[in-house]
Amino acid sequence: MSLNDNIKIIRERVANAAIKANRDPKDIKLLAVTKTRTIETIEEALLNNIEFIGENKVQEAENKLPSLKGKFKEFHFIGHLQSNKINKLMELKPTLIHSIDKFSTANKLNNYLKQNSITQDILIEVNTSGEDSKFGVKPADTLAFIKSASQLENINIKGLMTISMFTDDKEIIRSSFTKLRNLFEEIRTLQITNIEMKFLSMGMTNDFEIAIEEGSNIVRIGTALFGARDY
Ligand SMILES: *Cc1c(COP(=O)(O)O)cnc(C)c1O
Repeated sequence: MSLNDNIKIIRERVANAAIKANRDPKDIKLLAVTKTRTIETIEEALLNNIEFIGENKVQEAENKLPSLKGKFKEFHFIGHLQSNKINKLMELKPTLIHSIDKFSTANKLNNYLKQNSITQDILIEVNTSGEDSKFGVKPADTLAFIKSASQLENINIKGLMTISMFTDDKEIIRSSFTKLRNLFEEIRTLQITNIEMKFLSMGMTNDFEIAIEEGSNIVRIGTALFGARDY
């Protein structure tokens, strides 16, 4: 199957999952995760109406994005951000950073932003599966984390992100997403200054339909679009 076919199929599956959940398909952003993919493959995706691309390593993004001839609307950074890579990442002008989970990183990012008189939209990554191998703030610590990060004036917290457990058990996956959505709603209700609960980034190739049922409005999809990754 061609990349164009895969893109069409995934858009259809996203739309069907939205309709099934009584949601408007237009409210769900399809982020094409282009990590490990070549410049040629990304160009082809852009020719086939992919508008939003996500990368998880600063150096890889730096090697690829500036050489792209095709236009993309938004670049999202979805990987773990090391504080010594902040400058390089910011040169790539990410629309959204999905994966802030440490106050020290948020603080360093804020300092960079202040010095350059700019602001940055970010999401807080939450470890909803409880696995040690995963990054993210613990669900129970998320509200306190957000309250302290809300003091960082050049950072705009726009929502939450999670990665569910890698399992075939749909109910375990769903419980991760429900947990994130409940946190999202809880924080939204509090109306904290400088915090807007707008984006709920959850769902990947294996679980995006469940994520959409649970309220996701950004799905991050790599494998289902581009095939298995070859590292
Ligand atoms: C790789 C990656 C994805 C995409 O995963 P697929 O299973 O290939 O769709 C989504 N989110 C993050 C944070 C990733 O690192």
